[in-house]
Amino acid sequence: MLVDSHCHLNFPDLAVNLPQILALMQHNEVGCAVCIGVNLEDLPEVLALAEAHAHIFASVGVHPEYADVREPSVAELVELSAHPKVIAIGETGLDYHWHKDAPEWQRERFRTHIRAARQSRKPLIIHTREAASDTLRLMQEEGAGQVGGIMHCFTETWEVAQMALDLGFYISLSGIVTFKNALAIKEVARRTPLDRLLVETDAPYLAPAPHRGKINQPGYVKYVAEEIARLRGLDYEAVVSATTDNFFRLFPDLRTKLPL
Ligand SMILES: [Zn+2]
Ligand SMILES: [Zn+2]
Repeated sequence: MLVDSHCHLNFPDLAVNLPQILALMQHNEVGCAVCIGVNLEDLPEVLALAEAHAHIFASVGVHPEYADVREPSVAELVELSAHPKVIAIGETGLDYHWHKDAPEWQRERFRTHIRAARQSRKPLIIHTREAASDTLRLMQEEGAGQVGGIMHCFTETWEVAQMALDLGFYISLSGIVTFKNALAIKEVARRTPLDRLLVETDAPYLAPAPHRGKINQPGYVKYVAEEIARLRGLDYEAVVSATTDNFFRLFPDLRTKLPL
């Protein structure tokens, strides 16, 4: 089975079609998905999805793009992460694409999440966009390597990937790896050790080829795995089992919680 390590099932484009989306997951043998929290306001929806479906898990965090949302404290994140279906802290990180002034509040928020992850002993789910050097610096300064986690929807260079790997993080590739012009990401897909790769959709965004431009969904994670297999000259099944094994190495108690 495949795992979609990162999706947003509570977002309206997906929430309105949930039965069909869960059916395609089953059809494409996607046995588990992580529904990622992006702010505290919408967290109840994320938790409700995870509570309703044994193979959906959740994370708690406040995304760096959101300026006008409630700011979490370390204690609050730790408390929320004690929910039995919450497996990680995030998504968190830095995103200077929509915030060209690289605001200090993003870095403070990111530090809060790393501290919460260390206290709760849960892995981090890190989003970084046009902010790789600050992201890596804060990960180092705050000891993110003590909990590890996932560099989600990885779109940086192989050099950045190597630094994240050195900190003990996994590299999660999205549908972008299927895009013809994504040469740097294809290189990361070839060079990352197979035992450190994960796959995700980031649905409803970034649908992989052949569905590029449409609404993405967790079932489409199979196209990400197929492209990685093609790039590495491996069987599809080898990429499926490696990425799923990696996921369960990062989240060891999940295997027993899944209805297999
Ligand atoms: Zn993200
Ligand atoms: Zn996301």
